[in-house]
Amino acid sequence: MLPSDNHVHTQFSWDTGPKASMEGACRRAVEVGLPAIAFTEHVDFTEWGEADQPPAGASVGVRRRVHSLDVDGYLESIERCRDQFPELRILSGIEAGEPHHFAGSVAAVLKSGTFDRVLGSLHSIVHDGRLVYANDVFGTMPAADLVRAYFAELLRLVEGSDVFQVLAHCDYPRRYWPARDGAYREADFEEEYRTVFRALAASDRPLELNTASPLASATLMQWWYDEGGPAVSFGSDAHVPLRVGDQFEVAVDVVEAAGFRPGRDEYDFWRR
Ligand SMILES: [Zn+2]
Ligand SMILES: [Zn+2]
Repeated sequence: MLPSDNHVHTQFSWDTGPKASMEGACRRAVEVGLPAIAFTEHVDFTEWGEADQPPAGASVGVRRRVHSLDVDGYLESIERCRDQFPELRILSGIEAGEPHHFAGSVAAVLKSGTFDRVLGSLHSIVHDGRLVYANDVFGTMPAADLVRAYFAELLRLVEGSDVFQVLAHCDYPRRYWPARDGAYREADFEEEYRTVFRALAASDRPLELNTASPLASATLMQWWYDEGGPAVSFGSDAHVPLRVGDQFEVAVDVVEAAGFRPGRDEYDFWRR
């Protein structure tokens, strides 16, 4: 039995294209045999809201395509899919970008609807006084320095936000690691990973294994286990139906090798 896919985007996320479809994603989830799917749409902002906590006076950099989530339309679509796919457990949710900086803005979205699953994500870091996508910073500094800056900010996110339930793609910049710098080596950042993992474990929240990123090694998941990590959430980060549950067979082996096992039932996270 495959685990639930706790990280999927649909037409309601600002960065998806014409192939994105909530209905199509449900159909695919049933096809590949997933027990449940969570639609965690992007919640990002282009400016600071009233109760936000801008880091050191930084401005929000240009975020061209970002728009607000159509909460009502989204929740209606969730309801339609629940009627249409009774064999699939369908969770509502969001992927909150930089929830420690945008605390007030994220809280306002959460108050406007019912969201079962809240992912916490760091896509942007402060660079030259602006909050910019981490991948845009490669090239302006040594790649390893950028990754260290990312982990330092991720620690502040984990320690500074209790609004999210699962930490998504903990090493997001590795997706964009420049080939000219050789292979990305998890071992070069072991201390940084472990520091973030300790903080996340202390707050008793699951770590996501994100299968859209280069797949984490069993050693990396072992660090999470060693640091007291309570659970693992599986997420495809699919932006098209075809990617729902992508690589979950391999991901399950990686997580099992690190010592985690299926949880209380088929819908649960995997637990130690
Ligand atoms: Zn993300
Ligand atoms: Zn995502």
